[in-house]
Amino acid sequence: MRVTRAANAGIPDVSQTDGTLRMPRLHPAPSLAGSLIASLWLACATTIAHAEPNANVMADIHALAQKEQQPLLDTLRDLVSIETGSGDVEGLNVIAGRVADQLKQLGGEVEILQPTDIYRLDDTPAKIGPAVHATFKGTGTAKIMLIAHMDTVYLRGMLKDQPFRIDGDKAYGLGIADDKQGVALILHTVAMLQKLNFKDYGTLTVLSNSDEEISSPGWRSTITKFASDQDVVFSFEGGGTDGSVRLATSGIGSAYLTVTGKSSHAGARPEGGINALYELAHQLLQMKDLSKPEQGLKLNWTVAKAGTNRNVIPAEATAQADARALKVADFDDLEKALQEKIKNRLLPDSKVELKFEVRRPPLEANDASRRVATYGKTIYQELGMSMNVAEKATGGGTDAAFAALKTKGAVVEGMGLSGFGAHSNDAEYVKLDTIVPRLYLTTRMIMDLSTGKVK
Ligand SMILES: [Zn+2]
Repeated sequence: MRVTRAANAGIPDVSQTDGTLRMPRLHPAPSLAGSLIASLWLACATTIAHAEPNANVMADIHALAQKEQQPLLDTLRDLVSIETGSGDVEGLNVIAGRVADQLKQLGGEVEILQPTDIYRLDDTPAKIGPAVHATFKGTGTAKIMLIAHMDTVYLRGMLKDQPFRIDGDKAYGLGIADDKQGVALILHTVAMLQKLNFKDYGTLTVLSNSDEEISSPGWRSTITKFASDQDVVFSFEGGGTDGSVRLATSGIGSAYLTVTGKSSHAGARPEGGINALYELAHQLLQMKDLSKPEQGLKLNWTVAKAGTNRNVIPAEATAQADARALKVADFDDLEKALQEKIKNRLLPDSKVELKFEVRRPPLEANDASRRVATYGKTIYQELGMSMNVAEKATGGGTDAAFAALKTKGAVVEGMGLSGFGAHSNDAEYVKLDTIVPRLYLTTRMIMDLSTGKVK
């Protein structure tokens, strides 16, 4: 970590000389704030030794997070109300404009980017939506990046069955958990820093892309590039039902095997053909044991096709495999092993080609991400809350993995709100009582990373 500023630099002094508390100077104190601040101050001062010198500041930030909840929900309502399926470029342009405007109002240098370097996958659509890139320049050295995606898995027209609504302790809406909440949380974290007049970071970068749900073919290289020189990248996918943050996610790959033979009449002249199906069968059998379950590497052949007519020796046969890995290097090794295997053919005159796609690399925990996440736990403790840090990959991958590909810094996933129902098309929601803790967490993290407190 390059952040080495003095411990308290830049944090506004919000304590008065008589020892009473007041709100940060940009904000009038709400009527209830006094007692909340006092009780939080007491809790902090008595239970968290390291935080005691800044208890006033902490209480102010907490009060500010409470004030920011409603503006965040207003933003979230707007974002949910724009339909943004990954293939809905029109909707994605609208949301990108909305997000860019808000970032400009917050004082960022903002650009809406169009994809130029597309990594075409099997299912990549012809057109990919834009990304919003904003930079906030501060007076320090720390480089911090915040990412969330604007696209959803849903198709246009589905919003009317799941519009934005608040019911009890939850906010519902299509795509609200995955990942509109992440975009809103970033916008209002930046708003909090602005209201605190905090600028001790070197640069604060915001990147919001349009293609996460289709494995980021258009924005993966940009995410990797912008993340490469960051000290910390926070990714705002949902924090799961228990508010965990994640330091590892599994990688997803696919292998495509294509065998070309030669057709011939199966009854009259079979010897004149080259049976692509036989060759495919041979290849699949010799590639069936490449999994290494002990290290989380899995390869399973799942789809195969061959032939056109019963009485024709098949000239073409294809197959697909699903691959999973916990380490980037495992996919490289797997691809090498597959390319090596295809050299051994049953029918020497057949042609065998193998294509391997990394749909998403795995995210691996490193020391930097462990340090940052551990610090996050202490911030949650200031609120009397505990936060789980998951180091073992479970299930699907995210853009955090692209952010981690070329950086030595920390990448922490799951900074978003807790919720439920992503991809399920059934009552997707976020939990309202996670808004204030997450705003507090991200704001405090950025402040303390900027002022060198995270060792
Ligand atoms: Zn997502």
